[in-house]
Amino acid sequence: MATGKINVQTENIFPIIKKFLYSDTEIFLRELVSNAVDASQKLKTLSSLGEFKGEVGKLQVEVILDKEAKTITIRDNGIGMTGEEVDKYINQIAFSGAEEFVQKYKDTDGAAAMIGHFGLGFYSSFMVSEKVEIRTLSHKEGSQAVSWTSDGTPEYTLEDVEKETRGTDIIMYVAEDSIEFLEEARINTILNKYCKFLPVDIKFGTKTEYIDSPTG
Ligand code: ADP
Repeated sequence: MATGKINVQTENIFPIIKKFLYSDTEIFLRELVSNAVDASQKLKTLSSLGEFKGEVGKLQVEVILDKEAKTITIRDNGIGMTGEEVDKYINQIAFSGAEEFVQKYKDTDGAAAMIGHFGLGFYSSFMVSEKVEIRTLSHKEGSQAVSWTSDGTPEYTLEDVEKETRGTDIIMYVAEDSIEFLEEARINTILNKYCKFLPVDIKFGTKTEYIDSPTG
């Protein structure tokens, strides 16, 4: 198991995200579903280029609520990440001057939209979580599955785990002030607002939202 510090310029970016984008907390779901959809689309592309030779199967994104464990899981069976990729894409946040950015955009409606452009989409999960885990198995042959966890400070742990199925689970341990997101109705409303017209099935509970997109 490895422990380390997420490479952020500011000592702790999470309180900044939480404070300034608080009114828009629900966008975490859009950001994570959109990452999961991207990961699925990337696998499709690699397969059509002949770079992924395995079975693509049915690509889908699942949103799973566990009220007892107080978790929301976003599951995809897309490209997944190797340990090195988690380190590169999650730990080494290519983000300098977080505070400058926040100062500039905090009063605009665009603040929430901007967050994705700065490669912080995944980190919006910390707006509603006290701990986030990434469990992922890369599509690359012979990959070792890994688990990354952080409680919202720049410290994280990265360790090898057992995971049989390709793709990524983002498991959010919902914070006390955000338990509203453990309600099916709340999640359904957000999915209907932001997660329609996507090229991959979004499955939530027993309901499958599937609208064929022109690009799908
Ligand atoms: P962005 O999506 O804007 O690049 P994010 O912080 O949301 O920024 O994600 C950083 C990177 O982490 C992504 O570009 C992608 O490479 C990787 N990533 C995030 N979520 C997933 C996922 N579900 N499956 C595979 N890779 C992912």
